[in-house]
This record gives sequence, structure tokens and C-alpha cells, in this order.
Amino acid sequence: MKVAFTSDNIAGASEAVFNAMMEAAQGDAMPYGNDDGTAQVTQMLSQLFECDVDVFLVSTGTAANVLSISALTPPWGSVLCHTESHLLNDECTAPEFYTSGARFVGIGGANAKMDPVQLKKLVKQKMGDVHSCQPSVISLSQVTEVGSVYSLAEMRAITDVAKAAGLPVHMDGARFANALLALGCSPAEMTWKAGVDIVSFGATKNGVMAAEAIVVFKQSLEEKGISSEKVSKELGYRRKRGGHLHSKMRLLSSQMVAYLTDDLWRTNATHANAMMALLQAGLKTVPGVIINTPAQANMLFCTLPLPMIDHLQAEGFGFYGGRWEEGVIRLVTSFRTPKEGVEAFIESARGFSNDGF
Ligand SMILES: *Cc1c(COP(=O)(O)O)cnc(C)c1O
Repeated sequence: MKVAFTSDNIAGASEAVFNAMMEAAQGDAMPYGNDDGTAQVTQMLSQLFECDVDVFLVSTGTAANVLSISALTPPWGSVLCHTESHLLNDECTAPEFYTSGARFVGIGGANAKMDPVQLKKLVKQKMGDVHSCQPSVISLSQVTEVGSVYSLAEMRAITDVAKAAGLPVHMDGARFANALLALGCSPAEMTWKAGVDIVSFGATKNGVMAAEAIVVFKQSLEEKGISSEKVSKELGYRRKRGGHLHSKMRLLSSQMVAYLTDDLWRTNATHANAMMALLQAGLKTVPGVIINTPAQANMLFCTLPLPMIDHLQAEGFGFYGGRWEEGVIRLVTSFRTPKEGVEAFIESARGFSNDGF
């Protein structure tokens, strides 16, 4: 098979992550997160985010999302997120399951970014009415599901609505590093300084085997009158109940330590984003290709003539198509996408374009 742009999780793991896990597998360590490596992860993330955080490692992004949210909403609550969000479309009914049936409400908005005006209309809807679900959490995805990135001002527009309503904000950061590099700001600026209270800090898609961190910004929650101690205590029990308290937590921790050491996360995401920039720039010059949403990080949705899609697939390039509108494909680059592969894809598309029409 030629290079595949199917997803960033088709790539395995960075060597440093793999080696760290092998090393952590030697000797004995206390179980269930009572080991030095797990304490180190919390320390490293506190440093990265420039504040005091509580950290809960889990092994999937879905678990990070739904556990985070479940600790912030009662079963009669509603969670406001974009209609295209992973929560609403790609987590089966885990959101309802983990929250004991809270309502997930889709908010519209261009480029998979919530429209703050729509959000404002719904955020206080029937608040206090016993007959209706109660708005409880706002969740935004950064990178979004279509590959766009909220600017800090766009984030603020959302989190200001949340703040005015006294609601906590969750960020689905499955592609946290890719978004951060696209914005060129600090992790603190893209989270608690922008009004985010809890983040699913993704690592798996960017070079880790299977480790994601729920990061709780304690001070931010406190400022909204929400006890961070209560939230974190609950997260502890909920993670166990949800089957994500790994007994050999040190294996997850070792991956996260390696990911955060020597800026591996930054190096990996820099490469993935650079490959997407190259891919997008190349595709823009191919007749017949339409860019649906300009890629700001490492994911692009574009529309191709159907025969061109057939041609590229026949040539052995991998990507998802057919799940969306006809002719729409999704291309994702990873920390390991080879530059030659990107160039070959563009050449193949251009070659077809020249021959075909
Ligand atoms: C990949 C992804 C996740 C996590 O998915 P898992 O398969 O559960 O690890 C969450 N949110 C978004 C936007 C994603 O792309």
C-alpha cells in the first residue's frame, strides 16, 4: 500500500514512547497509579499548563471525553456541543451511558465551530424548569471534526457565554498539539486562560500507543463556584467504575512521560501539520479539487471528481470517503507521514487531472 491519509491513528507510536514503555515494564512498581511515573505525569502537565492540575490517565479519547463530562453534569443535565462533534457522532452512546442519560444537544456553526449566538440562545433555555433538562456543560473540540481550529477569540466567544451562565467548559483535545501549533500560543493560553476548565489531552493520535489525560484546571473550576475537589474525587470513582483505572498504570504513565519529554509532542505535531500544509498547497493547484474547509492543523476535507477518487484508490492511496457527501474525502497526516508520500499523492491527482479532463 502507498501512503495512507486515513487517520492519524493508523500510525503506530514514536520510538521514544515505545522504549519508555519497555523500560517501565522492567521491575516492580506500585499499581493503580500509585507509582512514581504517574506522579511525574501530573507534575509535567502542571508545568506544561503553568498551573496546578489534577490528572487522570485513561486509554481512549472517548473515555477521556465522557468521563470528564460525566463529572460535570447530573443525569438531568444537557451538554451543549457542535452538531458535528465526536461526542455526538463517534462515541456510540458512551456519552449517555457514562452520564446516566444526560442530553447531548447539537449547536450549529460554520466549520464545525459552535456559533456563540446560537449557544447563547440555548444556554439558559428552561433553566430552573423541572420539566426540562438543565444546561450543565459546554464542550468544544480543538482541532474540530472538520480540521478547523478555533482562534483564541473564537474560543473566548464560547467560553464567555459559559461564564455568564456559570457553566463549566470541556475541551475535546484529541488533536490538542496540532491545534496548539496552528495557533502558536501556549498550552495555558489555549485552555484555562481562554476559559476552559477541563481538557481531554490527546496523545494517542500524535505518537503515543494508548494514553490520554483528563486534565482538571482546579482554579478555573473554583472560580465558577464548582468544587474541583469534588470533581476530581468523582473522576476517581467514575474512572474505576468505567473500567479505566489501569492496574499497571505505569505503562500508560511512561508513554505520557516520554510524550512530554524533550517536546516530543511538539516535534510530532509540527511534522504532521507541515505535511498537511504541503498536501493542501499541492491539492489547491490540482484542477477539479475543491477544498471544503481549509486545513489549519493536520486534517483536511476536500471534494474530488469521483473518477479521481477511484484513480487514487486504485493507485493504492488510503483515505476515508463515502461517509460524507459524495465526492468528499478526508485526508489526515500524522507524525509519521512521509513527505514523498504527500508528493506522490499530489502528483497522482495532478496526473489524473491532466489525462482525465
Ligand atoms: C479520535 C478522536 C477522539 C478519541 O477517539 P478514541 O477512538 O476514543 O480514542 C475524540 N475526539 C475527536 C475529535 C477525535 O478525533
